[in-house]
Amino acid sequence: MADNAFETIAVIGAGTMGHGIAQVAAMAGMDVMLFDVGEDALMAGLDRIHGNLDKGVAREKVTEAQRDQTLERIAGTTEIEIAVEGADLVIEAVPEKLELKQSLFRSVAEHAPEGCVYGTNTSSLSVAKIASAVPDPSRVVGLHFFNPVHIMKLLEVITHDGTGEDVLERIKAFGAEIGKDCIYVRDFPGFATSRLGVALGMEAIRMLEQGVASAEDIDTAMVLGYRHPVGPLKLTDMVGLDVRMHIGEYLARELSNPAFEPPALMRQMVAEGKLGKKSGQGFYSW
Ligand code: NAD
Repeated sequence: MADNAFETIAVIGAGTMGHGIAQVAAMAGMDVMLFDVGEDALMAGLDRIHGNLDKGVAREKVTEAQRDQTLERIAGTTEIEIAVEGADLVIEAVPEKLELKQSLFRSVAEHAPEGCVYGTNTSSLSVAKIASAVPDPSRVVGLHFFNPVHIMKLLEVITHDGTGEDVLERIKAFGAEIGKDCIYVRDFPGFATSRLGVALGMEAIRMLEQGVASAEDIDTAMVLGYRHPVGPLKLTDMVGLDVRMHIGEYLARELSNPAFEPPALMRQMVAEGKLGKKSGQGFYSW
């Protein structure tokens, strides 16, 4: 490993994203400490890593030795001091609330070693605002992973105006080590991914509302006509209509662009509990 490579990573939040981030870092040979506020959430995260690796072995994508070594490199804790005391990179994946991410980074800063880099997995919030919570904001960078983390190749790296050049260089090397393809994006609402993806999703819902075509045909237009692996309505179902509605409201406000305003059909479906895959019904039945 290069001199400035990260060796010890703390991942804060063991949910959908956190457990996956912990797994890919450990698979790349780093020591990982996984933290969650609740013992149950922590155990569930560790179990999911175990399950992913077992599946990998069954599919011959991971050897038994790789699985065992990866698991040996991951430890769990519910004490923040223990989680971050030896970390040279801390990545947070706690719920999408600005105040929560800020207060978490404040307490991390009290216990983490000097020079530690802070990554936030926010999918929409201002990285600069999150960074303002720590004494040295130049150590903070957005690390936007995609779900499921161990499968999705993309890592969207978001730099705010004060992110240090040295931090960016180390993150570039980190992305390569964990096998991700990085894109580099300025700290701007919706970054590159959410802004384009949500714009397409909202327009597709408006087209459905206007009776332009069925949900299936709108999706097929993008899949066969534009080579998208999945259509915008099915993708909205997979992400969750409620989640996308909130991002749309945020982007409409922050970018002063009505194209992101959630259409009436979306608001109605959310009010009726038709949230997509997770509720069993969205634009499709799951
Ligand atoms: P999640 O709800 O699955 O997991 C969040 C975890 O954080 C839970 O285990 C919870 O117990 C824990 N937590 C809550 N408060 C905490 C605290 N103070 N300290 C430590 N842990 C705490 O959420 P998620 O889907 O993994 O999302 C996490 C972040 O990743 C969010 O910012 C989200 O926007 C972003 N993100 C999510 C996705 C996705 O597809 N789910 C994709 C990209 C980015």
